[in-house]
Amino acid sequence: MGNTFGDLTNPRIWMVYDPTGENHDGLPTYIWGIEGQNGGAPPGLATRRQLAAMGLRKNRQEPVAQIMFKARGRRRAYLYRVDLAAPKRPMTPAKWESVNKAARSRYRCSECPRELDYIPQRTAPAWGRCNDCMGYPLHDPEEQA
Ligand SMILES: [Zn+2]
Repeated sequence: MGNTFGDLTNPRIWMVYDPTGENHDGLPTYIWGIEGQNGGAPPGLATRRQLAAMGLRKNRQEPVAQIMFKARGRRRAYLYRVDLAAPKRPMTPAKWESVNKAARSRYRCSECPRELDYIPQRTAPAWGRCNDCMGYPLHDPEEQA
């Protein structure tokens, strides 16, 4: 990250730093990058990305605070309570099945039941039909040998 609001004595930073949230619709607002010092968020809170790095997900809780930082303009990240987070759901066989099914369906012709080894063109003039249904001759390099 590196890029922070930095100097807490700067009055413009004090306007952002708002641990009671009175200027931010009640959402306590901290400043990125000065963890453990005034301005940094209290321990026990984490962004979604930080939760993910710990193998956690926010588990449908609302953000309890936000953190602001400078990176390509002023940005913010919501903070969630680590103690309310839950382990990430592992991929179940059923989930993998639906992922695979979606991937396989791309190799299907919209007209015939063939399984293809290529993804048919979805746009005109094919509209998802395979080469056979389109009446294209199969291009077989062996034929020319
Ligand atoms: Zn076809």
